[in-house]
Formats: sequence, C-alpha cells, structure tokens
Amino acid sequence: MRLSCSFLLAVVSLAAEPADWIWSGRYVLTAAGARRVIENGAVAVRGERIVAVGPRVEIDRRFQAKQRLDRPDALLAPGLINTHTHAAMSLLRGVADDLRLQDWLEKFIFPAEAKNVSPEFVRWGTKLACAEMLLGGTTTFTDMYYFEDVVAEAAKEAGMRGVLGETIIGFPVADARTPADSLKLAESLLTRFAKDPLIVPAVAPHAIYTNSDETLKASRALANRFGAPLLIHLSETKRENDETIARRKMSPTRALESLGMFNGRTLAAHAVWMDSADLEILRVRRAGVAHCPSSNMKLSSGVAPVLRMRALGIHVGLGPDGPAGSNNDLNMFEEMDLAAKLQKVMSQDPQSLPASAVFDMATMGGARALGLEREIGSLEPGKRADMISVALDQPHAAPLYEPVSQMVYALKASDVRDVMVNGKPVVRDRRILTLDLKQVLSKAEEFRGRIKASLKK
Ligand SMILES: [Zn+2]
Repeated sequence: MRLSCSFLLAVVSLAAEPADWIWSGRYVLTAAGARRVIENGAVAVRGERIVAVGPRVEIDRRFQAKQRLDRPDALLAPGLINTHTHAAMSLLRGVADDLRLQDWLEKFIFPAEAKNVSPEFVRWGTKLACAEMLLGGTTTFTDMYYFEDVVAEAAKEAGMRGVLGETIIGFPVADARTPADSLKLAESLLTRFAKDPLIVPAVAPHAIYTNSDETLKASRALANRFGAPLLIHLSETKRENDETIARRKMSPTRALESLGMFNGRTLAAHAVWMDSADLEILRVRRAGVAHCPSSNMKLSSGVAPVLRMRALGIHVGLGPDGPAGSNNDLNMFEEMDLAAKLQKVMSQDPQSLPASAVFDMATMGGARALGLEREIGSLEPGKRADMISVALDQPHAAPLYEPVSQMVYALKASDVRDVMVNGKPVVRDRRILTLDLKQVLSKAEEFRGRIKASLKK
C-alpha cells in the first residue's frame, strides 16, 4: 500500500512540472518558427523565462503554476520592441509642432533642453514615457538621451527593459561640457549596468553632423571595448546628406564607414536617404535599422527604403522616436500601422509590406536589429518572459478572421490589458503596478509650468 502511494505521488509530480505563471488567451501570436498563431493557447513562465508555449490543454496538463491569468477574450503576443526613442522628452510633448527637423531642433528643442534638462527632468520624463509605453504593450525601449544612468534607474523602477545609450554630442549639454565628459559618462553607464537583467547599456553618438571624427571613433572604440551596441541617427534628412556630401564628398553612411563606425554592433535610426551603396554597407556590416514612420512623416523627412532593406536581409525594427514634436507619442501599434501604409503608398503595391511583416518588425525584427534575438522578440521556450495580452472585446476588434491582421490594422495600444516583463507582471487589467501613475502625471504638469515659463525668458 505504501509503495503504490509513493508511486502515485511520483506520477503526479512527473505530470506537473512547476511554473510560476501560466497565461492563456484566445490566440497566442508567437512571432516564432512555423507555428506562429496558436488558437486557445498558453504560455508557461518560470523565473525570468518562458518554459513552454502551446495549446492551453497541453500546457495545463504539463505544468502546475503558482499563479495564472486566463484571458479567453484576448490575444497574447511578445512584448513590442521600440528601437528608437528619447523617452525623457515626453515632458516636451507638443512644445513645438509642425516644423522641419532642423528648425524644430535648433529653435525649440535645444534651447528648451539647455534650460530644463536635469536628472529630475530625466527621471520624471522617463517614468512618464515608461508608463505610456508599458500601458501600450511596449516592453523594451531603445533610448538616446542625457543622464542615461537616471533613465536606467527609472526604467528599472518601472520594470521595463531598455537598451540605453548615453548621448555624445559636440556641444555643451546638460550632463557634459565636452564630448570627452560624455564619453566618461558612457563608460560609467557601461560599467554600472554591465550585468543587469533589464538594462543593456549602449553608446550613442548623436549623429555624424553633431560630432567630430575623433569623438565618433572614440565612441566606437568604447562600445567595442564593452561589446555594447552603438546607437546613432543616420541620414534622417536630405539636408544631413547634402551637407555631409558638400563637406566630405561622401554620404553619411560612407563617411561613417570610412571612420570604421560600423565595425561592431550598430543600430542606425531613420536611414531615410540611403542609396544602394549605403544599403550595401549596412548589409555587409550587419547593422540594424530603426525605422520611424511617424517621425519621418511628421517632420517631412522622407520615406525610408524599408522594402529594399528587407529584401537585402537588413534587420529593421520600429521606433516612435521623440515624444516631443517628432511624433508625439510612444505608440507602437501606430508605428506598425503607419509603417505598412507608408510603404504601400510609396510602392503603389498593397502587398509590399503586409501585416505579418510589420508585426515581425515590431517583435523579432526589432530584437535582431538590436542583436538581442536570443533573448527577446518572440514567445519561445528559453526566451525572457516579455509578454502582453491585448483585449479583443471592443467593437473595433470584432469580428476576428485573422489575428495578426487584427493586431496591426485594427487593435489599439489602449487595448493592451496585461504586460509581463522578465517574468514579472507590470500591468494588470490596464493598471500599471510598478509606478504611481497619479504622481507621475502631476509631476508632468509641474514640469509643463516650469518649461513654459523658461521658454518665455
Ligand atoms: Zn531620434
């Protein structure tokens, strides 16, 4: 009798592997492999990682979870990956609109930043941005700004993943008098967050037109010394190209190549004004691209050759860019929708960039562009548990024929209901669990008053 009891116990424990969480949904969009959409699916999570993805009946049979979240009226998807932004600039949202990039930067943004950017500005601006991003289903953001160590602290407090680059720029800024000072800040960021589970520290020389050759080369060398990614704006406007060609007799991409800037992990933001030789350099150097359709449209910068990039096998992710005047929000659902439609308009071919391609850009494509494809970007065993549930119970979500099409063309950031990052729930039923949203919003209002007054002086 005693023998058969212990035999039974053994069978029960074999049948139920431990898990911390099981999330289930009407559909699971895995963004991985052949089985990309699972109807009535579930995801099992243990610690910081996904341990299994499959039909709910199979997952329930195999795992005994400490906690579970069943959403029969939602779909589950990988957390969305924002490959280019300046999160703290959310405090400047709408301060100056409807301008070209250079006017917007030189007449409004640089002066407003000179008078207002401080560690506290960056802390509250980043918290505001993280709240917006998490509530809209973004679980990883890629940032270029000042006081990037404070960005990292705020991101960690929010429970959000970040690829965070200290900005290096050739004039005095809020956190550094010289590029050499910025490089020191970048090095301390790389050291401090070297082994962080949520933060990938990076080096972010602003652009070719705002840095000397020496500073650019020093930025590359520093990034390579730490095996860190280098983030840079590239060929965002025609003016950037015209001026670089006038001065150097080379396109920005060729000039950066001649300096050895692509010799290591690189993510180029925008890449709008690119010819075939420029694209060939990105392909050969395996540089990723952050495509920012909202920003490129709003600033009239142009249309990036996304179809040619993808045809060449260049990894392209999506980014909302600045929440100040170049977008003005951090909504990855809008970026997916606009990316698809912008290429259709340009190519006059509705099949040129289908829903599945832009969903890929917001998930695995972004992960590949960042060099993080082994860790994030899909719902697969072994990956970090970065996952969202998106409600399907609103009029704009019914009826549902094809879940990926619905995700890209019909669902909204405000449909995001639950978010998990690194195995930890951070949004539950549209409520952010990690930040005091009331406090974040009242701080944003307080900063608005201060910034408005500073611009009148
Ligand atoms: Zn930018």
